[in-house]
Amino acid sequence: MVYKNYISGRWGSALSEETFVKRNPANKEERIGEFPLSGTRDVNLACQAAKEALPKWRALPMPTRGEIMKQFGDLLTEHKEELARIETREMGKVLNETRGDVQEGIDTAYYAFGEARRFFGHTVPSELPDKLCLTFRRPIGVAGLITPWNFPVAIPCWKLVPALLSGNTVVFKPSREAPHSSTRIVELLTEAGVPGGVVNLVHGAGTTVGEAILSHPDIGVVSFTGSVETGRRIAEACGKTLKRVSLELGGKNGQIVLSDANLDLALEGVLWGAFGTTGQRCTATSRLILEEKIYDEFLTMLIARAEKVKIGNGLNEDMEMGPLISEKQLEKVKKYVEIGKSEGAKLACGGEVYTEGECAKGYFFKPTIFAEVKPDMRIAREEIFGPVLSVIRVRDVDEAIRAINDSSYGLSSSIYTRDINKALKARQRIEAGITYINGPTIGAECNLPFGGVKNTGNGHREGGWTVYEIFTEIQTVYIDYSGKLQKAQIDTEQ
Ligand code: NAD
Repeated sequence: MVYKNYISGRWGSALSEETFVKRNPANKEERIGEFPLSGTRDVNLACQAAKEALPKWRALPMPTRGEIMKQFGDLLTEHKEELARIETREMGKVLNETRGDVQEGIDTAYYAFGEARRFFGHTVPSELPDKLCLTFRRPIGVAGLITPWNFPVAIPCWKLVPALLSGNTVVFKPSREAPHSSTRIVELLTEAGVPGGVVNLVHGAGTTVGEAILSHPDIGVVSFTGSVETGRRIAEACGKTLKRVSLELGGKNGQIVLSDANLDLALEGVLWGAFGTTGQRCTATSRLILEEKIYDEFLTMLIARAEKVKIGNGLNEDMEMGPLISEKQLEKVKKYVEIGKSEGAKLACGGEVYTEGECAKGYFFKPTIFAEVKPDMRIAREEIFGPVLSVIRVRDVDEAIRAINDSSYGLSSSIYTRDINKALKARQRIEAGITYINGPTIGAECNLPFGGVKNTGNGHREGGWTVYEIFTEIQTVYIDYSGKLQKAQIDTEQ
């Protein structure tokens, strides 16, 4: 099957007619399809279309755009199973998880439907008599959206829906590892009533399509989710043209388990956090910090369960963990296993590719646990993005918090304890954008702010009401009804 770009309301090939092939990571012999390998000229056309469509889209009453988002949510609901299967085939995670991913898109669309009728500004007292001061939120213009592959429906929806609801038009570049889901999303947006030119889809490489978005003068805001390395490049390029840029980057998330915790609950949490999505989540649990008293007991429980995780094609409902996304990622994970061993950490389970039966055709890797990891080891500091968990032993809660904070990232964090005082004090001291108490590091809800501190981003928050700050400008308005010149901040005699 050959797929197309969507520019100015028309589906078409890249101007160069070049394509790339996307394959199923669970079975590299299976082709998902051929997609346009676009270039700068395609991005230029998309930007022109978005610019032309802007005045009409921006002028619609916000509740009208909200109705379209509601319709989009309804269509996602109707096609939930179809989309989940598309996702699983193209990026590998198991159906249960891809269904959740689509649900996040649905929830985001319905949230926007409500938000459309409560898009608050402020009214603020004036320092002068007979003067009204208030603020409005206005669209920025054309938004460039660049997304990763690990949440192929949720992350594009996190960006497309608020960008469009706010009145922006969009040029959307999805990952080359998840082009089919994004094509379906754009089809459903158009079916929901988003006019041609308002949303434009350009497939292709980051270094060409992505770079063309960053440098295009008509793009006013870039919203990016991906790795720290790419994020740095994006911030630099957007700095040159003074574009607003929101960056949601990597993580090295830790789960603390104190000795008074419900250990069975903490065990379920870490299994889900570390091996869900094959560890390829920005919020994946990649460090487990155990208080000394329960270290041996908990580690034994954990290894026993990790060895039983069912690995295989995510389309098989019995499976718990699918493949890694690509050969490159598989090689990276293997490399980190060697690094861990050479650093002196103890390989407690896994550590090798999984090639049972049909799995030999894909990029499968066993759930891997390193014990006796020290916070200064590379496997405790660098984002691996695979099913590799580093277990760190600590004496007490103070050492646990020092360990969890000893990271250049600060996305998600978790602490398990039955002592509410300890939990709340830890919450104050943990340096992360998200903290779960008695829950794993994953499980964000679309109606709350999402993002991290330190190298995880540049201070913006997606999700909830805060994502609308990314896609809008504030206009401050003063209305003087005194009938005379009043001078603010100038001392006058009463
Ligand atoms: P990536 O940085 O390799 O690619 C992300 C996107 O950027 C892709 O669409 C890619 O084509 C594009 N890109 C690459 N180079 C570019 C350039 N020079 N200019 C413009 N665009 C360019 O990341 P990935 O491998 O797709 O995703 C995995 C990473 O994403 C991990 O680090 C993960 O932690 C992070 N992530 C973060 C969040 C979050 O919300 N914080 C969520 C999911 C994933």
